[in-house]
Amino acid sequence: MKRVILSDFDGTITTMDITDTMCREAIPERWAEVEEMWLAGEINHVTCYELEFEALGYTQADIDAFLERVTISPGTERLVRAAQERGWEFHVLSAGFDYFIERVLHQRGLPVPYTANTMRFDGGGLPQLQFLDTTLPGCTRFLPPCAGCKPVVWREWKGRGYQVAYLGDGSTDFCLADTFRAEAEPGDLLFATGSLLRYCRENDIPAVPFETLDDVADHLIDGGWGEAREAQTPGV
Ligand SMILES: [Mg+2]
Repeated sequence: MKRVILSDFDGTITTMDITDTMCREAIPERWAEVEEMWLAGEINHVTCYELEFEALGYTQADIDAFLERVTISPGTERLVRAAQERGWEFHVLSAGFDYFIERVLHQRGLPVPYTANTMRFDGGGLPQLQFLDTTLPGCTRFLPPCAGCKPVVWREWKGRGYQVAYLGDGSTDFCLADTFRAEAEPGDLLFATGSLLRYCRENDIPAVPFETLDDVADHLIDGGWGEAREAQTPGV
């Protein structure tokens, strides 16, 4: 059986959401205002990011200095290495930016493949953002276009015959959880923490709670992929 661990990045692999934390610290009022507009469907996620980085005014040097502070969830390396040993794919699926994944994971010796938006820098060091242009047909949760649609990527892996274990923590994972409930097959798993876990509980979506990637590794590696599925409690 082909298997893939698909993992959100910000707040799942990292212990903080990078863009949110940068904004909350530097431009708290503007950040709250922009996030509210996005969640209310007044602006799309692409515009949300553009307004936030415009208000931040951070250069590459500022971003690099911030990224030095970013820590990753205990168990990340164990999970990535164990997946490699078992022939499982490990793929990061982020609504954030490739630059963060490269700096945080690849520079720690974990060069995992990913799907994410693109951040490059202009001559003055200011970020230039390019966004994935995937949108799920008929989606009404967010105003399109989203900064990458996770269900689209889930369906690509499922279409290639993979069992998928998805790991997530926040609002950009809610659509994935809905898709999981509607389309999951035996052996597919959803691991949830943070607001995603609350969302799963409120909506009776079966999810395995976790706090760190060590918890996920315990389920998948020590318990075995199949037994982890049996450990799910519907409606937890
Ligand atoms: Mg997240």
